[in-house]
Amino acid sequence: MVPEKYKEYVASNIEFPKECPVCHGELNVLDNGMVCCVNPSCPQKSVHKLANFFDVLAIDGAGESCVSALVNEVGMKRIPELISDAISGGNGLSAAMKSQVNGAKLRKNMLAAMNEPISMSKFLSLFDFDGFSEAKLSGLERLEVFGGWYENPLGTLATLRSYTPEKLAMLVIPGFSAYEVKLNLFTQMFDRLDEITGTVEMGKFTFKKSVEMDALGGMSFCFTGAMEYNRDDLERTVKAYGGLVKGSVSAKLDYLVQADENSTSTKSKKAKQLGVKIITPEKFFALLKEKGVNTIL
Ligand SMILES: [Zn+2]
Repeated sequence: MVPEKYKEYVASNIEFPKECPVCHGELNVLDNGMVCCVNPSCPQKSVHKLANFFDVLAIDGAGESCVSALVNEVGMKRIPELISDAISGGNGLSAAMKSQVNGAKLRKNMLAAMNEPISMSKFLSLFDFDGFSEAKLSGLERLEVFGGWYENPLGTLATLRSYTPEKLAMLVIPGFSAYEVKLNLFTQMFDRLDEITGTVEMGKFTFKKSVEMDALGGMSFCFTGAMEYNRDDLERTVKAYGGLVKGSVSAKLDYLVQADENSTSTKSKKAKQLGVKIITPEKFFALLKEKGVNTIL
């Protein structure tokens, strides 16, 4: 344990290095206080990136010395190189582990971890975005541009490639308030776009929405009548969490949402005839909460 007083002392007296001790590149101080090297081909960046990959996928067996050897001795810089090595027998992994047996174990752990279906945000977090954790990246799952990821990740990446970082920075992303934060994320994302695309192309990952993102798993809702909430927000929320929005009432509809429980509208009558559940917006919110959704968009 480092005493608080000592931490304060260090924080106020420490002289940050002016250049990267590894490659002598320029250093950038991030909003969260982290210092990172701006040189994209800095070996230290690759070490951090590969360590992050093992960490996010909770792959046992790749310690600090192994990751450092992968970069500095085996010459791996990017995640597709690491995956390709694991697929093709794991020679690089064994060399970095300095042991055939331990290399084979690490390879087995890696292949098993990659075999688990992964959410888009967790997958993106494998690429070591400075200052953006998986939780933070999950805001992207609710964006239209990323909406097609689970059907066609390569198509989504191609669409993304056609956007300018400035255009992306203008998007409204839950959890991302400042323009600079978004610009920072998308600048990093564009730096890694080839690497991300290359990794998807290897076909080792299968994508599956996280439980929260699929909380409404195909349930259908129709909103009708005046209500004190913005209907667009409610509809966007339904779609973002895997539900369906319907414009009319049918026997297949799960919920008709209306503020006035005594409404005699056509939709209301039809829902009653068909036995479709009628709920108020408040009950709709309670349902979302029950399903594990905590953010109304
Ligand atoms: Zn550096």
